[in-house]
Amino acid sequence: MQRRPFGSTGFEVPVIGQGTWPLPNRDALRRGIELGMTHIDTAEMYGDGRSEQMVGDAIAPYPRESLFIVSKVLPSNATRTRLAGACEGSLKRLRTDYLDCYLLHWRGGVDLAETMVGLEALLDAGKIRSLGVSNLDPWDLREAQAALRDATIACDQVLYNLGERTPEANELPWAREHDCAFVAYTPLGRPRRKDGERVLEEIARCHHVTPEVVALAFIVRDPVAFAIPKANTLAHVEANATAGDLGLDDDDLARIDAAYPLRERKGALPMN
Ligand code: NAP
Repeated sequence: MQRRPFGSTGFEVPVIGQGTWPLPNRDALRRGIELGMTHIDTAEMYGDGRSEQMVGDAIAPYPRESLFIVSKVLPSNATRTRLAGACEGSLKRLRTDYLDCYLLHWRGGVDLAETMVGLEALLDAGKIRSLGVSNLDPWDLREAQAALRDATIACDQVLYNLGERTPEANELPWAREHDCAFVAYTPLGRPRRKDGERVLEEIARCHHVTPEVVALAFIVRDPVAFAIPKANTLAHVEANATAGDLGLDDDDLARIDAAYPLRERKGALPMN
């Protein structure tokens, strides 16, 4: 499994990780960890803490330092008075002393600067090893980064897949310029059009993989990109792990680009 630097954190993280919503399956998560998908994404929101509990159970046998555990705070908890308590809740459910990265799940009604100051305090307290955001566009990212004293935003986790490529022209350039990891959620989503499916199938056949593996490899082709597919089926977990090492050539990339073209964004950054 290929690894790359996760923003400016200094951590080398597998390009393909594991999502945990809807609720994960312990055996599938463990198989994924054994195949190198040690970046595990969860959130206090998922199943009202159940996802974090299940991740805690799944990761228990593994050395903590071999894992990269990410959780997210709900916007309503991202306040001066509630953030530290929300983080403690996540740590307790995950049965760990620290998070590798802690994200604001999306921008809500709380002042972004207040949240960023609170995240930085958690970093100083050793509760989290890096901080990041999710569903933030470049304007929000700029505002969030400006509120930080010393820290930098480690990642922006956004909806990015073959059907939703607009982050390539918006959040991805920001990530590249600011040494920030660009993490794709719902990376397997795509419109099921006959012509596009045919292209993925042909490329998949040449590489002896499935169309989903080709789609994932395309999504993580940029040097700052990561993906967190969710899979409860063992065969899917095993397939996803191979995407981390699949090298698509220029012709493959051009054919996928033509079949699922980048379109101009009209309106806000889409969320799932
Ligand atoms: P996804 O990972 O793109 O798709 C998951 C679906 O694809 C499941 O039905 C899964 O089936 C199937 N699948 C997985 N691997 C496959 C393979 N190799 N071949 C065929 N099918 C495969 O979408 P997602 O679950 O929406 O997103 C992934 C993760 O992103 C979530 O779990 C969550 O952690 C995160 N997320 C974050 C946000 C945010 O706001 N930050 C929003 C949404 C999601 P099986 O389960 O049966 O294997």
